[in-house]
Amino acid sequence: VRYVYRFGGGVSDGKAGDKNLLGGKGANLAEMASIGLPVPPGFTISTEMCARYYAEGERFPDSLRQEVADGVAHIEKVTGKRFGDAADPLLVSVRSGARVSMPGMMDTVLNLGLNDETVEGLAATSGDPRFAWDSYRRFIQMYADVVLGLEHGAFEEALEIAKEDKGVHLDTELEAGDWQALVSRYKELVEELWEKPFPQDVHEQLWGAIGAVFGSWQSERARVYRRLNSIPGDWGTAVNVQAMVFGNMGDTSATGVAFTRDPSTGERAYYGEYLINAQGEDVVAGIRTPQYLTKGARERAAAKAPSMEEALPDVYAELARVFDTLENHYREMQDIEFTVERGKLWMLQTRSGKRTAKAALKIAVDMAREGLISEEEAVLRVDPAALDQLLHPTLDPQAERKVIAKGLPASPGAASGKAVFDADTAERMAGHDESVILVRIETSPEDIHGMHAAKGILTARGGMTSHAAVVARGMGRPCVSGAGGLSIDYKAKRMRVAGQEIAEGDVITIDGATGEVMLGEVATVQPELVGDFGILMEWADRARRLKVRANAETPADCRTAREFGAEGIGLCRTEHMFFDAERITNVRRMILADKEAGRRAALAKLLPAQRDDFTEIFRVMAGLPVTIRLLDPPLHEFLPHSEEEFAEVARAVGETAEGLKQRVSELHEFNPMLGHRGCRLGITYPEIYEMQARAIFEAAVAVAKDSGEAPIPEVMVPLVGTKAELAIIRQLIDRTAKAVFEEQGRSVDYLVGTMIELPRAALRAGSIAEEAEFFSFGTNDFTQTTLGVSRDDAGRFLTEYVEKGIYARDPFVSIDEEGVGELIALAAERGRATVPGLKLGICGEHGGDPTSIAFCEKTGLDYVSASPYRVPIARLAAAQAAL
Ligand code: PEP
Ligand code: MG
Repeated sequence: VRYVYRFGGGVSDGKAGDKNLLGGKGANLAEMASIGLPVPPGFTISTEMCARYYAEGERFPDSLRQEVADGVAHIEKVTGKRFGDAADPLLVSVRSGARVSMPGMMDTVLNLGLNDETVEGLAATSGDPRFAWDSYRRFIQMYADVVLGLEHGAFEEALEIAKEDKGVHLDTELEAGDWQALVSRYKELVEELWEKPFPQDVHEQLWGAIGAVFGSWQSERARVYRRLNSIPGDWGTAVNVQAMVFGNMGDTSATGVAFTRDPSTGERAYYGEYLINAQGEDVVAGIRTPQYLTKGARERAAAKAPSMEEALPDVYAELARVFDTLENHYREMQDIEFTVERGKLWMLQTRSGKRTAKAALKIAVDMAREGLISEEEAVLRVDPAALDQLLHPTLDPQAERKVIAKGLPASPGAASGKAVFDADTAERMAGHDESVILVRIETSPEDIHGMHAAKGILTARGGMTSHAAVVARGMGRPCVSGAGGLSIDYKAKRMRVAGQEIAEGDVITIDGATGEVMLGEVATVQPELVGDFGILMEWADRARRLKVRANAETPADCRTAREFGAEGIGLCRTEHMFFDAERITNVRRMILADKEAGRRAALAKLLPAQRDDFTEIFRVMAGLPVTIRLLDPPLHEFLPHSEEEFAEVARAVGETAEGLKQRVSELHEFNPMLGHRGCRLGITYPEIYEMQARAIFEAAVAVAKDSGEAPIPEVMVPLVGTKAELAIIRQLIDRTAKAVFEEQGRSVDYLVGTMIELPRAALRAGSIAEEAEFFSFGTNDFTQTTLGVSRDDAGRFLTEYVEKGIYARDPFVSIDEEGVGELIALAAERGRATVPGLKLGICGEHGGDPTSIAFCEKTGLDYVSASPYRVPIARLAAAQAAL
């Protein structure tokens, strides 16, 4: 095998497609050289060598010596200089370059090849001894830090002392002799700290640097970065050895970084910074304030220092031509590093540029319009998850943040408000126009009114599909869940976090996109759903096969969903309608009645309220299908918990507190998620489902009568495990429909279907399909029941599971394809074997997750259903999955 690939001087052993082998930097240097752009010659040692280096105990195979020698010879030939030559020395840079960029995580050595002899040669050939000695001291400083691992503070201190002795403040005020003296001091420091003299042999220097760059792949910070960004540890880095070019050779030299379009707005304008008479690190390190690239940008910023366009007009013109060449060649916005050495432009790097969501949209749409890419490519260019940034108010990136805790980014958007520790107070304060953040250990359905009233929700426990997370996403409320650092005291109405006490009324800010919790108010910026968004969505809609519906239960949420392009409601969770302050009493009466007659009396009072809900939803969703799920959660969720509440409820329902407690303890379950819930409620208390079915059909008929457009109700039964369950409930629904249609003298079409959220239901899908007109996969429960992992408690250990690679991703966020996915595919196949073309959808949280949507496309589902704010994300992800 070969490990060394050359570039420059008319040679390109690699190409842009070789990123896995050569790393991003190496592959693109080869590509730029091959299209005739000015690239200093060099060579790349492949990532395969990195793997071998570690496999063989951090040693290089002998064969590499010859290959590297050939690589150096290539550079010597192109530059006409020789490595280690005292008269006209070749200097090189040694840089890392992984497949994906890991900014600042790995090591770089510049000016390599300088020693006590070659520094004189450099001084002579450049005619600039100051430059030569400055380069040498920079080299020693970097080498000591990166390769020898010496304490860099000592070197910085020596530089400070040199300036103090001379009575100056700036590096630029030191002269050749000063740098020369500092070099001597640096060499002494190396000898003191390393106990050996600074290496004078240029080949020893080179091998030291190559080893250090490979070694930096396993540095602590690189490992942490890889973990945070899901970059596999076995990819390795490549090493790029390249002839040095100098941006610090006087006023016709410069160095800079640039983007071919504005990375924050997407505007088609060159964007960048440069510094005259500087080396690359000076721009990045922020030692000097960089200057603008273009005249326009300088004028807009009212900056004094001349732009590159003004200071170096000829080189700027050439650079602009290179930008255009690169964009046309890569057909993508590029992020570039360049250096100008005495008026000659050199390209040091190009890669596709990181950008904000807004810029991503604009660039994709513009490039398609410019004919650079097709509309399909434009659709593929935008990361669906990034749309989140556009749909919610976000924290002003300029604002200062004082982070006090971090949890899961459960529902995007940012919000500030007064911390409040119970739902009633949240509602009351919001009623007085105050912004509040509801802070709970975890939320329960009883907190819904407070969650709705709050600007944002923060919980100490719970995962990505915990109650708080699901409900918050549904409402479009920002939410941070599972912030383990909070210790909340409900009684005292305060919490402790990071050594601070936060009382009710203290202002905090949460960022649902990052999971950060901050002290005080942080300014936000509103989303702008400008033209490009609509255009890209139109292209996406043309490309996708999957339909996209929304999970919503209030008319307001349905309206939002429709505005975001939902093609129906895939899940209306009727229990959320039961928590309304006026209804909860009747719900409790219904539950507390120990005889059917009592239940029916309470249900009769709930009927008009449910009917009104459905009527409004049908109106908003006119012409589109609406899937309404019958009551699902265990009944005790609706009952009181605290003493105070008991007394209040007892009064309201006309019971003694003792009698009430008795009934509540009867309803107690050890494992309610697997208890008396879902269709089991409908089997044992048929009158509940009967009331709900009646409300649905009465609403549908009413809307059909007065709007002329009949809604399409799809009645959905939760937690079915057997065909018999569904058959019993289906009969009840059909009977109710028939009765309503006869009473009203008008009928509407409707479907009856089931959720598939139990493994047994998936296995028996063939027989269950005999009673169902559609299946909807409830992947929240399905993940819970298949993995045997509680969705409400998973947060405590799942993060560690993901870190250890036991699951690649949180299975409550992205479908566990191997397990849950296989059951879905099986159920789809068996269901459709019974009923060809059986309508299939997914309504768990996964319906808004791009990876899971790709799985749904592959598995041939008909639609996905996601919370309203995720509808655009789902539309784009569905299109990408189809392309
Ligand atoms: C599900 O279980 O995936 C589902 C959609 O229902 P819920 O989240 O209401 O249990
Ligand atoms: Mg469920």
